[in-house]
Amino acid sequence: MQKKVKYLIIGQGLVGTWLGYFLKQRNISFAIVNDSNTASATKVASGVINPVTGRRIVQTWMIDEILPFAVASYEGFQEKTNTKIITAAPVVLIHPSQQMKDSFDYRMNHDNVYLKKNNPLAWASFFNLHFGSGEIDACYWIDLISFLEAGKNQLAENYIESNFNCNNLKLIDKGVEWNNISAEKIIFCDGINSMINPYFKKLPFAPNKGEALIVEIKGLPSKHIYKNNLAIVPWKENLFWVGSSFEWDYISKMPTDAFKQKTIESLNAVLKIPYTVVDHLVGIRPANTERRPFVGLHPSYAQIGICNGMGTKGCSLAPYFTHQLIEHIENKVPLNAEANVQRFKHLIN
Ligand SMILES: Cc1cc2nc3c(=O)[nH]c(=O)nc-3n(C[C@H](O)[C@H](O)[C@H](O)COP(=O)(O)OP(=O)(O)OC[C@H]3O[C@@H](n4cnc5c(N)ncnc54)[C@H](O)[C@@H]3O)c2cc1C
Repeated sequence: MQKKVKYLIIGQGLVGTWLGYFLKQRNISFAIVNDSNTASATKVASGVINPVTGRRIVQTWMIDEILPFAVASYEGFQEKTNTKIITAAPVVLIHPSQQMKDSFDYRMNHDNVYLKKNNPLAWASFFNLHFGSGEIDACYWIDLISFLEAGKNQLAENYIESNFNCNNLKLIDKGVEWNNISAEKIIFCDGINSMINPYFKKLPFAPNKGEALIVEIKGLPSKHIYKNNLAIVPWKENLFWVGSSFEWDYISKMPTDAFKQKTIESLNAVLKIPYTVVDHLVGIRPANTERRPFVGLHPSYAQIGICNGMGTKGCSLAPYFTHQLIEHIENKVPLNAEANVQRFKHLIN
């Protein structure tokens, strides 16, 4: 017998989990297909939400709107699933050079919202602070492994463990059919796999490889995130996520010794206390040349949609844009023009 749902979601990473979660909140029917053996950026990400970015320490895109929405969404998810997911964790900026210290001091006095001075001695027993340190407020750490697990449990009734192949997708009048499911809409939340999807492969994806080490650092306080050239992010008890690389031109998707050695050298230079490397992670970010998400419906096939291209900012962008996509389809609320996938109509038609 055929199962009828309104939405068929492909992928249960950050994006697919949020989409399913919001649909469930609204009692809208859906099925979510995920292959746990396929690579997922969410599984290796550090889970940091940081409202500022780059060498000039400027605010990230739309952060004033996106940050409060993301925080409220994770808090709601946390309450609903009874699982600790979001932790406020200020970033301690360990200035890696005089230039970066100058940049911080400049921003403190110009359009500053999130930067704070800190006690110069507070972190001196843990780190070499040749150029001093500062702090970024309103940063959060999302426990993404717990988020995915709690999401899978929350969506258990709707979850199908399977590898989706577009060759088995049938477009019908006002909908799609796949295996024994018929749906009004199919939404691709399959991360970098959308790059081989016949409907969306022409979008300007620019996948970006990131490696990180999991390091045991006994005694380092775990209520902050530390950042110089590396980010040192609380992971589990006494364990920290240390990374990462940003590689646009990579030859292999595997972890490399070169990254490991470089990271160990950087850690040796900044950290004053002993540590042990316990794991080495690698993932591919579904990034793109414009650094804006791909959200919305296909210009030629209204039954096919996408929510993707979250790049380095999936934690903050995913709740906001999955919610916006539902509002768009259900209530005809316009999508943000910079995120609307129809800006690439000329490429994907
Ligand atoms: C090293 C690294 C560090 C990062 N750090 C941060 C950070 O600190 N903060 C931040 O905001 N972002 C960070 N990111 C980016 C973040 O991970 C991504 O933006 C986000 O995870 C993308 O989520 P997604 O759901 O689009 O993709 P994914 O997490 O890749 O999810 C795609 C899902 O689709 C499934 N799937 C794919 N193809 C199929 C198929 N054919 N059939 C069935 N299922 C399929 C996969 O199994 C997976 O579950 C980082 C990324 C990396 C690699």
